[in-house]
Amino acid sequence: MENVRVFDSPGKGRGLRAAKELWAGDVVFSEPSLAAVVFDNMVEHVCHSCFRRQQKLQRCGQCKFAQYCDRTCQRAGWSEHKQECAAIKAYGKVPNENVRLAAQILWRIDKEGEVVSDLQLTTLEDLEDHVSDMPEDDLKELKVDIHNFLDYWPRNSKQHRVDYISHIFGVINCNGFMVSDQRGLQAVGVGLFPNLCLVNHDCWPNCTVILNHGNQSAVNTLFHSQRRIELRALGKIAEGEEVTVAYVDFLNLSTERQRLLKQQYFFDCTCDHCTNHVKDDIMMGGLETEGNKPSEELLKEVTDYSLQTLEQIEKARLDANYKEVVKLCRECLKRQEPVLAETHLYLLRILSVLSEVLSYLQFFEEAAGHARRMVDGYMKLYHPNNAQLGMATMRAGVTHWHAGLIEVGHGMICKAYAILMITHGATHPITKDLEAMRMQTEMELRMFQQNEYVYYSMREAALKNQPMSMMAEPVAEGIKSLFRKK
Ligand SMILES: [Zn+2]
Ligand SMILES: [Zn+2]
Ligand SMILES: [Zn+2]
Repeated sequence: MENVRVFDSPGKGRGLRAAKELWAGDVVFSEPSLAAVVFDNMVEHVCHSCFRRQQKLQRCGQCKFAQYCDRTCQRAGWSEHKQECAAIKAYGKVPNENVRLAAQILWRIDKEGEVVSDLQLTTLEDLEDHVSDMPEDDLKELKVDIHNFLDYWPRNSKQHRVDYISHIFGVINCNGFMVSDQRGLQAVGVGLFPNLCLVNHDCWPNCTVILNHGNQSAVNTLFHSQRRIELRALGKIAEGEEVTVAYVDFLNLSTERQRLLKQQYFFDCTCDHCTNHVKDDIMMGGLETEGNKPSEELLKEVTDYSLQTLEQIEKARLDANYKEVVKLCRECLKRQEPVLAETHLYLLRILSVLSEVLSYLQFFEEAAGHARRMVDGYMKLYHPNNAQLGMATMRAGVTHWHAGLIEVGHGMICKAYAILMITHGATHPITKDLEAMRMQTEMELRMFQQNEYVYYSMREAALKNQPMSMMAEPVAEGIKSLFRKK
């Protein structure tokens, strides 16, 4: 932890600041999880030790609940599962993810003490729980969780006071970090990383946080080594400057971000971008053509219509009715195009859904056009090294490549690679995939530049022999906020 120091951030409680000058892509710190559990709805799909998504998993023969890739993962996970395994057997059922996580945390602390490593900068006791700020409904849920916890917690484990158990649940509620699968595309669990809890929010942050599962073969040798977060600098950070991350996606109006932050993390964001409403105007603006702008009424009409259609689209997408999604998106786009600015959030949402679903249905050419407009819009809104921007650019690049648009595709893949080298680092599996794609597309581009005809006929032959691999099925919801809301 030589790069950061704890300090009292005015109006924000404790925070971390740089102990020395840092540069884009520097790992400010990395931290293993103190505890982590797989989400209730993911227990059948994800290894409980390494959190990789797998087609086939092996069940723990004792509790029949925990599932693992193989014996190696099971052995690696045993020291954290041992007590859980016995507790589940005795309880006769499986408690929810909150209760499982609270129990994991308490078993770990009981065994190793409040500070499990000398790199840990805070005790759990000192973290905020915001229980007193919770709305009525959340408090009710908290009480149910505590009740279930007390039933589940074994008599022969150390007994804790109810207010301490309540504190742990409060900490999980506002500091539980979303653990993603190995592709970084879907949240599959929740974990606690005490040092990360000290990093305050800014809507335009100077750091990003990424989970690195490491590489498959090296993973299971060290307990917990597989679930490690890295805090990475997005640009130059001066010595003494506070390090910050964004708890919510920047692609929301400032008032919406403030509402989300207040609701989930119980603070009023007073960052520069919120205070000065930076970019709010272009996120909701009308299209300017030759100095003309649409009337307020028309803008409002199309904005309201878009919002309604987006809800219908979401429904159709959850039903996996992709034909309907495409139809709704195309209709919506037709009405949006003459009225909304290219950076309007609802236009960007339509472009994102439409390009993703069309890629999935293998209509790559049309998908590529929409993806390109989406990335152009994102570039005007996001920080140039934003991880979401990097991922979107990567997807758009792959779509262009699949559409045979090799020049633009290669360019986008290079751009995405440059961003992900900073946000994810060279060893992250996605960066490695991108590097392979960068080399492949570079080779194809060279072939294309030498002889277009040969390139196309070779491509056609390749397509005939081997249908292109399917794009991943569109996930209903990407990872938009850092910490989890139940
Ligand atoms: Zn595993
Ligand atoms: Zn078990
Ligand atoms: Zn803000």
